[in-house]
Amino acid sequence: MKKIAVIGSGFSSLAASCYLAQAGNNVTIYEKNQAIGGRARQFKKEGFTFDMGPTWYWMPDVFERFFEDFGKIPSDFYKLKKLNPAYRVYFGTDDYVTIEDTLEKICANFEKVEPGSSIKLKKFMALALDNYNIAITDLVYRPGVSPLELVTTSTMKKIGQFFSTISKDVRREFKNPKLISILEFPVLFLGAKPSKTPAFYNFMNYADFGLGTFHPKKGMYSVIEGIKNLAEELGVTIKTDQNVEKIIIENRKAVGLIINGEKLDADVVLSGADYHHTETLLDKKFRQYSESYWQKKTFAPSALLFYVGFNKKIKNVDHHTLFFDVDFEKHSQEIYDTPQWPEEPLFYASFPSKTDASVSPKGKEAGIFLIPLAPGLDDIPEIREEYFEKIINRFEKVTNQAVKNYVIFKESFCINDFISDYNSYKGNAYGLANTLMQTAFLRPKLKSRKVKNLFFTGQLTVPGPGVPPALISGKLTAGLIEKELRN
Ligand SMILES: Cc1cc2nc3c(=O)[nH]c(=O)nc-3n(C[C@H](O)[C@H](O)[C@H](O)COP(=O)(O)OP(=O)(O)OC[C@H]3O[C@@H](n4cnc5c(N)ncnc54)[C@H](O)[C@@H]3O)c2cc1C
Repeated sequence: MKKIAVIGSGFSSLAASCYLAQAGNNVTIYEKNQAIGGRARQFKKEGFTFDMGPTWYWMPDVFERFFEDFGKIPSDFYKLKKLNPAYRVYFGTDDYVTIEDTLEKICANFEKVEPGSSIKLKKFMALALDNYNIAITDLVYRPGVSPLELVTTSTMKKIGQFFSTISKDVRREFKNPKLISILEFPVLFLGAKPSKTPAFYNFMNYADFGLGTFHPKKGMYSVIEGIKNLAEELGVTIKTDQNVEKIIIENRKAVGLIINGEKLDADVVLSGADYHHTETLLDKKFRQYSESYWQKKTFAPSALLFYVGFNKKIKNVDHHTLFFDVDFEKHSQEIYDTPQWPEEPLFYASFPSKTDASVSPKGKEAGIFLIPLAPGLDDIPEIREEYFEKIINRFEKVTNQAVKNYVIFKESFCINDFISDYNSYKGNAYGLANTLMQTAFLRPKLKSRKVKNLFFTGQLTVPGPGVPPALISGKLTAGLIEKELRN
């Protein structure tokens, strides 16, 4: 029985630990924070419950596949509800498009905005489904060890789509700016501009319109709790308040950790903490990637978040509501091209208490507001306040109601918190973006090239940002560890 020390308790670490324990290893998770879950932690205050990170449950098939590997189904651990509408997108005061829960209904709404667009959408979605089948059922389950992993008869037929972009493909078919923004929205989860994301990633549009948006009762944290319960059932030990200070190397082999000043032995070390941070736990000669490597990478955005308790029910919003009432292109330039605080930000608001009574006291509303930002910006309390004012004023105008005077409390979370809470590089929220040059084997490796028995997992590795990829990443790393242990 090998002793495996796992750093961090995000989705990827939890998933990897389940596979490693199932294979008969002695697995212990060491999490620096008081609570588990990493970026998917939960915040509770005055009877309100907020997911601090992920709120969109997409790709239910990936969760099913994860639990199936352990002879389970998601409903053994949490209850899912398909949202209808899935979300609403505002483009101005009283001007919005609703995305419902079936492609037929979505087509009908598209047709109202741009006559003829529903036929184009059906064609676009057929391609997206084809790509989903290639990518999600097969490609993303490859560990990024070799470029040959991407060479299959199906991908060869799609080669052009790796060199075109989502932006180009969408604009070729659709002319209405609202529909363009809606179709470009899903790839924002991959962390890069749609104009930098390969067209092949339109499988995210199938995840959106084809599979739909779900809500786990009590929030995404119930998924963390479910996987934690599974892990413990499989024999994983989870320890919190365990700040890993160093990875101990002997004879170019990982042999343990230093945690809160104490030395612990291990046969294998697996880190689900951010890759850049994990490498700082090693002496310089054992690091695979230089500072300039990280500086040159396209990081997914950071975010300014507000968790707000409202003293009344909020009108004219859905569970998920996007505010695309300002220039999409200008804000993305301010994230990626000339990093700065955006002049007029797009933002996202979630009101989980619209569909889940368990997350707020009766008659009140839980609101989460998210502004995507360039990582590494100066983050000071005055700026956070200024942006709250900016978005709440716009919110009131666009949704036609007064809400400011009904705020019971608001808590913010931004770049400095991502750094202090998760050791995130420049305070990124979603890891490393999926651009063409940061796809599959071109991403940081799951297995260290310099140190034996040292492995990595999580949103900076393969396949990329998001909860479903984090689960897949855990499985892939566990597979590589098993392979190494057998040799
Ligand atoms: C605001 C926000 C919104 C998001 N929205 C969505 C969404 O709607 N849908 C979706 O699918 N995805 C979403 N994501 C992305 C998704 O949450 C992440 O991709 C995923 O949770 C990352 O999991 P992980 O295991 O890679 O990393 P993390 O969750 O970051 O886990 C890493 C863990 O390592 C710990 N750690 C770091 N350093 C140390 C150390 N030295 N010692 C011990 N422990 C350490 C950290 O505390 C953390 O718990 C969102 C993310 C954020 C931040």
